[in-house]
Amino acid sequence: MPRIVVAGSGFAGVEAVAGLASRGLCDKYECLWISPGKVMSFQPLIPLVASGRLRAEDIVFRLEGFARSLGAELLDDRVTRIDKDKVVLEENGDLGYDFLVVATGARPAFYGVPGADTYTVPLYTPSEAQSLYEKLVRSEASSVAIVGAGFVGVELGAELLWLNKEKELGVDVAVIDMLSEPLQLLGNPAASRLARRILGEMGAILLMNHRVARVEPGRLVFSNGDSVEADIIVWSAGLQGPGIEAPREAIGKGGFLEVDEYLRVKGLGGKVYAVGDSAIMRRNNCVALKMAREAISSARTAVANIAASISGGELRHYKPMITNCFPLAGISLGPGDGILVIGKSIALRSNLAELYHKTVLKYYEKLLERQEK
Ligand SMILES: Cc1cc2nc3c(=O)[nH]c(=O)nc-3n(C[C@H](O)[C@H](O)[C@H](O)COP(=O)(O)OP(=O)(O)OC[C@H]3O[C@@H](n4cnc5c(N)ncnc54)[C@H](O)[C@@H]3O)c2cc1C
Repeated sequence: MPRIVVAGSGFAGVEAVAGLASRGLCDKYECLWISPGKVMSFQPLIPLVASGRLRAEDIVFRLEGFARSLGAELLDDRVTRIDKDKVVLEENGDLGYDFLVVATGARPAFYGVPGADTYTVPLYTPSEAQSLYEKLVRSEASSVAIVGAGFVGVELGAELLWLNKEKELGVDVAVIDMLSEPLQLLGNPAASRLARRILGEMGAILLMNHRVARVEPGRLVFSNGDSVEADIIVWSAGLQGPGIEAPREAIGKGGFLEVDEYLRVKGLGGKVYAVGDSAIMRRNNCVALKMAREAISSARTAVANIAASISGGELRHYKPMITNCFPLAGISLGPGDGILVIGKSIALRSNLAELYHKTVLKYYEKLLERQEK
């Protein structure tokens, strides 16, 4: 039987497998789904696990029943290399495919800063967030420094400040960035001003214009020679590609997979698609932001294009909606507060982000767990 392989089980992987099944492709092809741990993690709510408002298990879903209901076979493994005719898996070795969807997400980027990967903790998985929470409530730390004031850094900062107040922990929370404003990369000055104001009201120590030159145990040293000490240092300063080996043409800036306008990975012969955070997806000169909506809709386009190439239909261009030219984001800053960012000039103080994420979480709870019964 011919085979379609989907690698990864975040928003993009779940959408890809569901899409293949709903088009009847998992009847005609073997749909093989590579999923480390056979789970999906709902990343947008990770900061709420760090503050104890959710537990890690609230945002991690087992996938066995869902996969079974779709007629897909789940394999607990990781892709280490992609070639034109096969993928290489960590445990199971070489695996041939007729079509491949790479939905393996991204990884934290340390930009070669000495000590960053050793002496900091990333906030990329629910279990990392859970262990941060536990350390704080066990009073094993009285200061946290968060490197990176993008949306993950500011959300985490606000959650920890809320936790600090709620439980009277007496923890200092510093949010640090080499840029001059929080959320600066969104390019919306009103959003940056709001983030600065809300974090300030909550008691954050904001250290902008501070470039981290190296990290030592419990200490950040900046390029101007200054330093700050912190019991816990969280690294949320950016992302790099998934770290999968592939022919040179396939790997672009930051290690992300290079795709054409149909989401086919360059240099791999047209049967390999990359979607979501693993890829650099462009619309004219604008680049898609690494967000759940883009992961889901790119996976839909890749599946439509696989179906079209099987049936001899026309391939569809992928046109990301949320890009660096038009950011659209809901940033939750503790219970009942946050910022809605619409384009480069509108930013509203609003609690809609958390409400929205919790509604979407319920949708995934139903979609993925209902199938177990
Ligand atoms: C803390 C945090 C907060 C966020 N908040 C928001 C938000 O508020 N709104 C928003 O839209 N987005 C948010 N994001 C971003 C959003 O979560 C991502 O854009 C989205 O998860 C991307 O989906 P994905 O499926 O491409 O990748 P992921 O969700 O990262 O899934 C990747 C999958 O691939 C698997 N995998 C990894 N390596 C391999 C391998 N080698 N082989 C096989 N499988 C592999 C992983 O186990 C995982 O199952 C946030 C992210 C983080 C970390």
